[in-house]
Amino acid sequence: MSHRNLAPLATALLLMAASAAEAKQWRYAGMHPRTGQPRDGLCHLESMHVHSAAPLYADTLYRTRDNVHVFIGDPTPFGYEGPRHSYYGHHPVVLNVLVEINVDVDVVEYCYHDGPHYHAYEPPPRQEFVDKEDVHFYAGDYPEAYQRENPKRVRVNTVYRGWNVPRPVVAFAPPPQYHGPIIQVGLNVDVDVKVGGRPPPPSREVIIIREDDDDDHHHGHDHDHGHGKHKKHKHKHKGRD
Ligand SMILES: [Zn+2]
Ligand SMILES: [Zn+2]
Repeated sequence: MSHRNLAPLATALLLMAASAAEAKQWRYAGMHPRTGQPRDGLCHLESMHVHSAAPLYADTLYRTRDNVHVFIGDPTPFGYEGPRHSYYGHHPVVLNVLVEINVDVDVVEYCYHDGPHYHAYEPPPRQEFVDKEDVHFYAGDYPEAYQRENPKRVRVNTVYRGWNVPRPVVAFAPPPQYHGPIIQVGLNVDVDVKVGGRPPPPSREVIIIREDDDDDHHHGHDHDHGHGKHKKHKHKHKGRD
């Protein structure tokens, strides 16, 4: 049997394999969780590449540009050991700074991590941040796009809550330039957040200074004190889970 006779068949098989693979490929750029499960760690490929695995928690851990998934979350749960930058609350992330994307205008997305958290990236250029004790606080205004995406994106906090990872210790009130939500999280560390002279919260309480929050913040409470004050907003309790 001649090898030449097999060539058309081989070509056909290759094409079939290629199209089958194409149908299942997901594009990524920059470091990202391998699967989304903390135990599976991080993929450190910087340039655009593909995986056959769909991104887990795509709506909250990633932002996309031309179908390329860019991880913008806190890499700590996935065993990240590189340089870290401490942030507090919600802030802009500029995709074309994180990964190489050719654009004329910055592609600005927002991180919705509540309270203190880490990123592998430093605050993006051309955005206003103030630093207090090495923690970055966004000092600009939040545009309509931020508000619009909020109900969907803020669920990132529900995802991370189950992972119980270390966070930067922020034992002081955010600077006045910061206009984002002030929410105590990281119940596994003893953080005493003082905001506007309010008395410090009970150690296992979560202070919510948003009126559109819901009851899932009460998970892990020893008591259900505070339940009452949230109940009256029950009709608004949507979108965070
Ligand atoms: Zn990858
Ligand atoms: Zn962030």
